[in-house]
Amino acid sequence: MNIDLELKLVKKYPIIFSQYGGDIRYTCMGWGMTCGDGWYNIIDELCENVTTLIGNKSIKVTADQVKEKFGGLSFYYNIEVPETFMNNVSYIFRNAMFKTKLGRLYWIIVDFRKKIYRTTEEKIRDIIDDGQYKSYKTCELCGKPGKTRGQGWVSTQCKECWEKSIK
Ligand SMILES: [Zn+2]
Repeated sequence: MNIDLELKLVKKYPIIFSQYGGDIRYTCMGWGMTCGDGWYNIIDELCENVTTLIGNKSIKVTADQVKEKFGGLSFYYNIEVPETFMNNVSYIFRNAMFKTKLGRLYWIIVDFRKKIYRTTEEKIRDIIDDGQYKSYKTCELCGKPGKTRGQGWVSTQCKECWEKSIK
């Protein structure tokens, strides 16, 4: 991605891109964002949604790697969730249930709870998946509607960009 566009995202979402090395690019995001400019809006929207979802919760999401892979957007991230009172209670509860051979019941309760309300972590996963889904329908080079083209080497592009690419 064009360095100016990358830096625009880094400035707009300083926490998410706190591992970004800036001009030096000498961090774990050392390669910068390795995808085309056409996905700028998708990444921008994705970060916006994550930021809104987190709100003032003390959860921290940082991007490890942003790249094109098999024609789609891969957004690898790290999530830090603070130790909370409820987490500690559920940890004690879990240990107690496993000690008394109620481990299976514990997992049934966990599944049930997940169905009732999804956690912030799961919602973040959904936002990332949604961004990837959109990338498969958006030209990586210009941002116009596109589709995944090619065999072996695949790339999501619009018709015009693809014709230029294969020349
Ligand atoms: Zn295009």
